[in-house]
This record gives sequence, structure tokens and C-alpha cells, in this order.
Amino acid sequence: MIDSLLSEENKMFRDTVRRFAEKEIAPHVMKWEEERKYPEEYYRKLSEMGFMGLLVPEEYGGAGGCIIDLVILCEEMGKVGVSFPLTHVSACCRSIVSQGNEEQKRRYLPDMASGEKIGAYCQTEPEAGSDSGSMSSFAEKKNGHYLLNGRKVFISNGRIASVFIVLAKTERNLSKPSRGIAMFVVDRDSPGVSVGKTEELMGRHCSSLDEIIFEDVKVPEENLLILAGSKGFKEMMNEFNGERCGNSAFCVGFAQGAYERALRYCKERIQFGKSISEFQGIRWVLAEMAIKIQAARLLVYDAVIKSEKKGKIIAKEAAIAKKFANEMTTWVCDQAIQLHGAYGYTTDYEVERYYRDVRGWSMGGGTTHICLNRIAHQILK
Ligand SMILES: Cc1cc2nc3c(=O)[nH]c(=O)nc-3n(C[C@H](O)[C@H](O)[C@H](O)COP(=O)(O)OP(=O)(O)OC[C@H]3O[C@@H](n4cnc5c(N)ncnc54)[C@H](O)[C@@H]3O)c2cc1C
Repeated sequence: MIDSLLSEENKMFRDTVRRFAEKEIAPHVMKWEEERKYPEEYYRKLSEMGFMGLLVPEEYGGAGGCIIDLVILCEEMGKVGVSFPLTHVSACCRSIVSQGNEEQKRRYLPDMASGEKIGAYCQTEPEAGSDSGSMSSFAEKKNGHYLLNGRKVFISNGRIASVFIVLAKTERNLSKPSRGIAMFVVDRDSPGVSVGKTEELMGRHCSSLDEIIFEDVKVPEENLLILAGSKGFKEMMNEFNGERCGNSAFCVGFAQGAYERALRYCKERIQFGKSISEFQGIRWVLAEMAIKIQAARLLVYDAVIKSEKKGKIIAKEAAIAKKFANEMTTWVCDQAIQLHGAYGYTTDYEVERYYRDVRGWSMGGGTTHICLNRIAHQILK
């Protein structure tokens, strides 16, 4: 069904990614997870394929891909059970592609596209999660630089990143606080930047969510990416709806992976003298899984194909896809464990990891409630 929506080019790209994921990534995922450390090999392989700079224009060393390509990449990676941050990497590149000046693009994008430098996106603070307008990080303008102070939490790839995209206020006490937020590119090796606590996570054991601390960091004026209150900010926030589509596609991939494992198991497992896939109760669960995955996939591709045509990400469609895909994948992965019986609850079968790994997707990139708010805002305005 999706094939009728995709161009020949999209399908060729999907075949390439699928072959790569099955051959180069799938055999190593369990080992990387067990090692519980940053999977250098994974990012190296992605870089060699040009996927780290998928959405970076070719003139800056990227692959010049589009949002449909990002969704394809995320779905195929999810399918083989990879939950390492990818959408955040692309969000960092996209911030610079979309809002950076020529000098900033030349300075950062080639290294980020080649995987030489990993980016981390720093927005969330201990007291400012969904309500980013209440953030307290502040960058004070002084002679030729900004003096940045603040503490960010839950930053994907924070520990290993060499480039931070940081949101901080440059103006206080505005009637609309979010209008005081600016965006900066900050180099990891700037004096005053440090990594604090790394969270112990329920899943995603070889990626990290880290605390990043900025103490009197002198950020040169030329590292200002978006001026507070400018049109650029609104444009950038809209760009981030693209990351919601990537997040949703990961969820579709994960659900598909869990479903395929459950299907295989149900055919093989014999109880009461026959394969459990012959029991109607089991067959209906498998059918429900297939319906929900297909519906989510259609929502994701509908969002990106419409957005691509329009030349900008459509916020409502992206939020609908994310909300549905986040909840769908949690349900499918839960059912996949159920269909495996007690074996599903052991670490011998991958479905327990799928279940743990997908749970975080409904928080990152705007929670399901925030997506609902976004959808309601669009339909009621
Ligand atoms: C896997 C993962 C990766 C992440 N990566 C990054 C990253 O790279 N960079 C970064 O900056 N952050 C990152 N985050 C943090 C993420 O952006 C925040 O968790 C998210 O914005 C929600 O903030 P919070 O956790 O403080 O929850 P809160 O905002 O405190 O929300 C708590 C609960 O209240 C609900 N809620 C809040 N406001 C409303 C409202 N107005 N209406 C209805 N319900 C509401 C929420 O939906 C949630 O259920 C990541 C988080 C996870 C789990």
C-alpha cells in the first residue's frame, strides 16, 4: 500500500537501507545492547553510508536527502531493533541547515555530515520540560560574546557530542516568555561546558540521556544561530515537526520487528497439540497488530509526503502520526511479549527489549499530550 505512495527513487533508497540494516546492523544489535556503551561501530557504519548527513545539502558534504528519506531510514533501523538516537542527530544538522549563515554551515556541517562530529540538541531543563518557555538557561550579551549559564537534562548523545545546539533565553520578563529564547551552536570543548549525570534508563541501554552543564561559557556572537523573537525561531520549531515524523517511523519499525517475531513464534509454538497460531484468540491479536502497524505507517507517510509537497512540515499531521505511532508501538510490543508467554518475559527473546526500548519514544520530541494539544489547537483555531 505504501509502495503506491512512494516514488521509484524512494523505493530504491528503502531497498538500500533495508539491505544495509539487515546485513550490517541486525547481527550486532544484541551485542551492542549488552555492552551498554556507545556503539561507535554503529555510527561509523551509518557515516560510511552517508546517513549521518542524510538531510544536509550535498554542497556541505551531506546526502541532500528529504524528510521522506529520514522516515525510511528510521523505519528500517527500528525494524532491526536499533533505538539509538538518530532523529536528534538530524535535528542538530537541520537547525544549522535551516537557520545557519554561510560561515556556520561551512564550519559545522561537513564534519557533522561525515559523522566526525556528533550533535546533541539541548532544550529540556529540570524545571522546563514540555513548558520550554519557562527555561532558566540564560545567555547574557557582553563585549562580542554571550555568557551562557544553564543546566540541560535528558540530552540524547550528550556525553559523546562535540557540537551542542543550545536553547537559552537572552531576554527575561517578557509577557510571552518563549519569545525570549535564542538558539546557539556551542562547541563541546568550550571552557565551562561539562557533562553531569547520566540517567539509568529502562531501555535503550547503549545510548545515553545526559545532563549538560554550561557555566560562564563564552559563546562567540558568530555562534548565535537564531535571534530571540525572530521569524527564524518559528520556522525552526516547525522544522522540528520533522523529527516527530522520524520518531513515529522508528515506532512503526519497532512494532513491525516485534510483530514479525511474534508471528514466527506463534507458528512454531505447539500447545494442545497444535501451533498456537491456529487458535482464534491468537490469530485476532496478530490481525490487530497488523492493522495498527499499517494504519500508523500510513499516517507517517501521509504526513511526510504531504509535507514534502507543501515545502514545509505540516504540524497537525506530524503530531497525529506521532501520537498514534507512539501508542501503537507500545501496545504491539506488549502483545508480542504476551504471545511469547513466559519466554517473552525473558531476555532470551528480543521482544522484551523492544518493549523496554519503545517506551521512551512517547516522551522525546513532544509527549503524546503535547501532540494532542497541538492537534486540538489546529482543529479548533
Ligand atoms: C528518550 C528520550 C530522549 C530525549 N532526548 C532529548 C534531547 O535530545 N534533548 C532535549 O532537550 N530533551 C530530550 N528529552 C526530553 C524530552 O524532550 C522531555 O522529556 C519532554 O519534553 C517532556 O518533558 P518532561 O519529561 O519534563 O515532562 P513534563 O513536561 O513535566 O510532563 C509530565 C507529564 O505532564 C504532561 N503534560 C505537560 N504539560 C501538559 C499540558 N500542557 N497538557 C497536558 N499534559 C501535559 C506530559 O505529557 C507528561 O505526561 C528526551 C526524553 C526522552 C524520554
